[in-house]
Amino acid sequence: MRFYRIATDDGPRWARESDHDLVLLDRAPWLSPSDGARVRLEEVTLLAPAEPSKLVCIGRNYRAHAAELGNDVPKEPLLFLKPPSAIAGPGEPIALPPESARVEHEGELTLVIGRRLRDASLDEARAGVFGLTIANDVTARDLQRADVQFTRAKSFDTFCPLGPAVVTGVDPNDLAIEVDVDGEIRQRSRTSAMVFPPYELVAYASRVMTLEPGDLLLTGTPEGVGPLAAGQTVTVRIEGLGELRSPVVARVR
Ligand code: MG
Repeated sequence: MRFYRIATDDGPRWARESDHDLVLLDRAPWLSPSDGARVRLEEVTLLAPAEPSKLVCIGRNYRAHAAELGNDVPKEPLLFLKPPSAIAGPGEPIALPPESARVEHEGELTLVIGRRLRDASLDEARAGVFGLTIANDVTARDLQRADVQFTRAKSFDTFCPLGPAVVTGVDPNDLAIEVDVDGEIRQRSRTSAMVFPPYELVAYASRVMTLEPGDLLLTGTPEGVGPLAAGQTVTVRIEGLGELRSPVVARVR
């Protein structure tokens, strides 16, 4: 099943796909919603399919990506956070801030949490993931290298394109993932190449911070990260989940 968040005259609404159309829902899909009116999929504006309290991210979770940045693979998952204010919807531009001379794409499989998880076992983590979506963990690489921690480099507005849908019933453990910029393939791997697999990451993160329904866990990016320039379009594609396209623009202050 595919779930979307769309713009309506009454504000953002959740919807589920049904025979190429959408059925509006009265609450988030992990809260056992009731059906409402039908709308045409091609007539709606898609929004980012999440309203998380936090975005939990994992660094250096693919061996070849850690190596390309000159890092070893960590002995435990490397956690950091992005703020919800960084989220951008499908098709919404990534805005390059003037503070950075090198902003890079990082296509990432993303888990959507469906129930509160604290100190979760592996089985509880698996049961607590509602569905999957796609994120681009956009990163100002020069600022990441300059700072002691990742916050500034990862947190500019629009640095987390997300969507287009939350998809249920797809096993996250061995999906093809690729990123292209203007049609040129930059990243291509499979989620089976992760150092720490998806549900282990959820269980691990839940021992640090309580995960709330709707929270997101970005599972790290494979090798091939590279720079973005204004005027380009970056697309992240994951098997079974669709594709997330983002034009790139310069941010003007
Ligand atoms: Mg990343």
